Amino acid sequence: SKMEGRGTWRFFEPAMDANLQKRRSLELDLREAMSRDEFALFYQPLYDLDQDRICGFEALLRWHHPKRGLVPPDQFIPITEEIGLITPLGEWVLNRACEQAALWPSEMKIAVNVSATQFRDQGLVEVVSGALAASKLSPHRLELEITESVFLENSSETIATLHKLKAQGVRIALDDFGTGYSSLSYLRSFPFDKLKIDKSFVRDATATHGSKSIVRAVINLGRSLGMTTIAEGVETIEQLNHMKAEGCNEAQGFLFSRPVPVTEVASTILALRNG
Ligand code: C2E
Ligand code: CA
Ligand code: CA
Ligand code: CA
Repeated sequence: SKMEGRGTWRFFEPAMDANLQKRRSLELDLREAMSRDEFALFYQPLYDLDQDRICGFEALLRWHHPKRGLVPPDQFIPITEEIGLITPLGEWVLNRACEQAALWPSEMKIAVNVSATQFRDQGLVEVVSGALAASKLSPHRLELEITESVFLENSSETIATLHKLKAQGVRIALDDFGTGYSSLSYLRSFPFDKLKIDKSFVRDATATHGSKSIVRAVINLGRSLGMTTIAEGVETIEQLNHMKAEGCNEAQGFLFSRPVPVTEVASTILALRNG
């Protein structure tokens, strides 16, 4: 009835208000966060299963909010996209990641996440070449992680951007593979170097038959298309052994290390080298 509908609405109103208020205040704080130097990059190791050694790190953005503490990226990156801050923030991330990775051993790659909005931004190619030039990082050490949502629109521009990035020597990985709008046809049309198997499949691969089959299919698909594969979210020895046995090229996850601040990169490399 109308009464019920009205009652329901009124019931949810205060909660919606609180969410909206939190969002507005995060939005205001985000606009200041960059100049206040509240962002930092954490780094999580990438492990080469073929060579049995650490081969790089993924940069993961952290926001140290003065009052709220650590705000997870899932909670603020969507807002920065909506309010148009992802372009300067993404530029900061690329510059900082390249600058820091340039100081690491030269066999270490650096993987940087690029959001769909950021990818469609006209200036991305220049931002990437600028970050490489400023840091003197060799382009083949930089890997950009993009998600399937990039391919929802504008495919000719998307292809052009991918080719320009690849022409600089940068590698492209398709992140969260299998969770999105998966049309397999774009694997043929777009020049990816790597498929990143989403952690939801990795988690279930040792338990459910469905996920096991998907993991096997993705690894074989990648191999037959000349792409490498990486399993993310590896937390147990069983998952690691399974991915190795299936022929996955790389792995990443809490089993190796949680994301660490830049000051702990060197000790993380040493710890993984000493097994
Ligand atoms: P993602 O790119 O899929 O990153 C992997 C996420 O899984 C990270 O969460 C990482 O900390 C977490 N993770 C790593 N190993 C494990 C594991 O073994 N088990 C579990 N359960 N989780 C694991 P995080 O750092 O909270 O980042 C969340 C998302 O935020 C990222 O997902 C990415 O989409 C986005 N993000 C992070 N940094 C950036 C950035 O610099 N730019 C953009 N555009 N997005 C970013
Ligand atoms: Ca990623
Ligand atoms: Ca991912
Ligand atoms: Ca994700």
